[in-house]
Amino acid sequence: MLRSTLLAASRSPRVRAIVESGPFDPLVSRFVAGATAADALAVARVLTVDRLVTLDHLGEDTTERPQADANVAAYEHILALLGDTGLAERVEVSVKLSALGQSLAIDGDKIALEGARRVCAAAAAVGTTVTVDMEDHTTTDRTLDTVRELRVDHAWVGAVVQAHLRRTEADCRDLAGPGSRVRLCKGAYDEPESVAYRDRAGVDASFARCLRVLMAGEGLPMVATHDPRLIELARTLGRDRPYELQMLHGVRPSAQRALAAEGETVRVYLPYGTEWFGYFMRRLAERPANLTFFLRSLLGRG
Ligand SMILES: Cc1cc2nc3c(=O)[nH]c(=O)nc-3n(C[C@H](O)[C@H](O)[C@H](O)COP(=O)(O)OP(=O)(O)OC[C@H]3O[C@@H](n4cnc5c(N)ncnc54)[C@H](O)[C@@H]3O)c2cc1C
Repeated sequence: MLRSTLLAASRSPRVRAIVESGPFDPLVSRFVAGATAADALAVARVLTVDRLVTLDHLGEDTTERPQADANVAAYEHILALLGDTGLAERVEVSVKLSALGQSLAIDGDKIALEGARRVCAAAAAVGTTVTVDMEDHTTTDRTLDTVRELRVDHAWVGAVVQAHLRRTEADCRDLAGPGSRVRLCKGAYDEPESVAYRDRAGVDASFARCLRVLMAGEGLPMVATHDPRLIELARTLGRDRPYELQMLHGVRPSAQRALAAEGETVRVYLPYGTEWFGYFMRRLAERPANLTFFLRSLLGRG
């Protein structure tokens, strides 16, 4: 119930305008590198000492074409900086197609594909990769179609699948071909029972089934979870093959470092930018204890 309320609020432009207008709350800084590309690079530089990084320029549900173009330009900018600073070897980027225009009323898919092509070209120019984040289930088919199109020129484009969707085991079979980079996560959006498992046991069992499919395939499974039991399962299934463990910046950082020290390839998803509201609300929804801290600090602003 609380999770659904928080996820509904995450898409409210009014709540977003009120909350984003305040200063960067300390709890926001736990999950978000900062407002600027320079903030992102500073945090990435520290993390890349023992881990890999995926940078995410925050933004989603863009409804204006100029904003979609600005988001593409922001990716081109950070990718050029990654090249200049030598970080491109250990840092890739993730994009949300809705930030690049997918939800525009006219030609949204075409505009997002063109934007994503520009981001991929900028990544190729500095020798890094791009992963296309997955948003709510109404966009799954269009997003996977776009990934397929992008892979014609750049086979390294990563796809994301969400274990809470009932369709995902079949998607994993489709995506487990040679060289295919696939991030498996539980899924952060509030989905109806008709398309998704809504109980923890159902989601976790689906995650385990999907993981087995990806680990038996010929691609690179990117196992995006903080769940210790699923991480152990990945390590067991992946004993004799390459894979990545992925976690969010600010979540279980000591476990991230410990896994890296044990020789695991660990990648940290690191968002930056001013449009942190939707991302942040999803983090609150995952762990309601975070909400108590946040409300206390909002009230304390007086
Ligand atoms: C690298 C990465 C990329 C992702 N990309 C996408 C994407 O493209 N699309 C999408 O829908 N979702 C994405 N997600 C989010 C994902 O779907 C889950 O919502 C999120 O990871 C929480 O699920 P969990 O697997 O960690 O398991 P949970 O069962 O939710 O959590 C396991 C444990 O991790 C810790 N934990 C988890 N979340 C938090 C938090 N917010 N704050 C504090 N502790 C926490 C707690 O200790 C918890 O007990 C991504 C996640 C990661 C790690």
